[in-house]
Amino acid sequence: MTSVMRLIRAVRVIEFGGPDVLKLHTDVPLPPPEANQVLIKVHACGINPVETYIRAGVYARKPTLPYTPGTDVSGVIEDLGKDVTSFKKGDRVFTTSTVTGGYAEYTVASVDTVYPLPDQLSFKQGAAISIPYFTAYRALIHKASAKAGEIILVHGASGGVGIAACQLARAHGLRVFGTAGTPEGLNLALANGAHKVFNHREKDYIDKIQEATGGDGVNVILEMLSNINLGKDLQLLSTGGRVIIIGCRGPIEINPRDTMAKESSITGVSLFSATKEDWRESAAALFAGMEAGWLKPRIGPEYPLEKAPQAHVDIIKGAGATGKMVFVI
Ligand code: NAP
Repeated sequence: MTSVMRLIRAVRVIEFGGPDVLKLHTDVPLPPPEANQVLIKVHACGINPVETYIRAGVYARKPTLPYTPGTDVSGVIEDLGKDVTSFKKGDRVFTTSTVTGGYAEYTVASVDTVYPLPDQLSFKQGAAISIPYFTAYRALIHKASAKAGEIILVHGASGGVGIAACQLARAHGLRVFGTAGTPEGLNLALANGAHKVFNHREKDYIDKIQEATGGDGVNVILEMLSNINLGKDLQLLSTGGRVIIIGCRGPIEINPRDTMAKESSITGVSLFSATKEDWRESAAALFAGMEAGWLKPRIGPEYPLEKAPQAHVDIIKGAGATGKMVFVI
């Protein structure tokens, strides 16, 4: 284990604010890994909407300033803490968290948040596993208790979590409906597990979804934009249907009566609330998906670290999602 403090290129946030507070520095000190940590040379890092809320200072969990954003890294182990036996230098890995931040050339991560990256997945794909797939699993299995044969609507199927959810739901034997806002997004959902797709920018798309269920309604909805859709979702549900709130960017008025006759439910999901046991179970299921081949992250726009501010604008205000956004380092 080296004890020399390295200077690396990394994006730093000195104060909370707009995308421009993401500054690329070239002299960021990186501590050597502690006993149960590893040092990873980062090849790619996933870009997630939550990182924009944290950067803006509007998220419930605020890091101590200054900080480097990013949790979903993939790369190669460069150094090991003295107690680490499960990895060796040169191993390809991905992470579900980091200690020093992922928008960087190197990162330090605690060994219990590091996983081997299978050979058949690229580094970019490795950076698209953590938040998207662990959230999709938590929503579909832990919260919705979805069963084979049920109809699921992935309301926002063209982004990181949506594509993961389509692949996962299809592999679990559900009938999968997905929505997107562009032809590219619709095709992506279809190519990644959706049986039927609908454009959420069309006026009558909710009627079309209802029609496609034969009038019985949707059993499970994984909702990426609940502040727009929750009222419509409650109308779409079947008897005993469940809406799982994954994404929300503001308040919405609903009529609670819409849940009564159908005894439907609304459940929130937070990946940060997952226990260690939940993470272990999700990881086991997701590794089975990598082995079987259905877990295949689809990469969308790629950015260098210099373009971090642009990436944060695009993930919130882009013209339409086309897969997972990543930094390539
Ligand atoms: P993303 O890659 O940016 O994708 C956003 C998705 O939302 C796209 O499929 C987009 O479709 C869709 N969308 C846009 N307008 C919509 C509308 N009117 N109705 C339905 N969907 C719409 O983001 P992500 O990583 O998949 O995350 C999605 C949301 O989940 C974000 O709000 C994120 O913060 C949240 N999230 C929450 C958790 C949690 O633990 N609760 C974990 C991860 C993510 P088009 O672009 O094709 O229109």
